[in-house]
Amino acid sequence: MGYVISLWTPPALAVAGSSDSFPVRRIFCVGRNYAEHQKEMGGDGREQPFFFLKTEFALVPRGGGVHYPAKTSNYHYETELVVALHKGGRRIDAKRANDHVYGYAVGLDMTRRDLQQWGKDHGRPWDFGKNFDESAPCSDLAPASKIGHPAKGGIWLNVNGKPRQKADLSDMIWSVPEQIAYLSEHYTLEPGDVIFTGTPAGVGPVKPGDELLAGIDGVGELKVRIVPAL
Ligand code: MN
Repeated sequence: MGYVISLWTPPALAVAGSSDSFPVRRIFCVGRNYAEHQKEMGGDGREQPFFFLKTEFALVPRGGGVHYPAKTSNYHYETELVVALHKGGRRIDAKRANDHVYGYAVGLDMTRRDLQQWGKDHGRPWDFGKNFDESAPCSDLAPASKIGHPAKGGIWLNVNGKPRQKADLSDMIWSVPEQIAYLSEHYTLEPGDVIFTGTPAGVGPVKPGDELLAGIDGVGELKVRIVPAL
């Protein structure tokens, strides 16, 4: 018995300071997890966050050249702390949730804002706005065994050298342990699952030729260059 097409290698993130890598199973993303970003998206800053997913094949490990995607004229960056789980489970207690975390990275939840808005306006899914090719550039993973579990520290993005996003991880509405606990009420979490933990205010459009440098103090940096559409 064999497979009728060749098997693929699971998408993976490199582990900083090591030749090993972390295979990625699913990508959960939290929406509107910083009050100032809720407001810029039209909310009142007091809503509960919520989740959506991207497939692991949206990852662009280590960033680099990312193609301007098809079918959009409003392509946005969203800088986010990424959490990688090495232990799964269900109904995880927030107090013990950090034990499930292997490490942290800097990610960009790239968004076709016009398609996302069309979905919102028509009560349709967000997938085409959020889950598309190359929509999840992500840095190497910094293991929690080396950096601990960052609950505060700067999160920022420069575009062509100009500051566009700047906030602190402590501004999150749902903390990382709370996000893990909440998700594990709805899914059986598995080793390899990762969470994009939401973006602060300052989201905006980019175009081919733009250079993005995203960083989280104590975690790492991620560089992306937008290249012309395929
Ligand atoms: Mn996001």
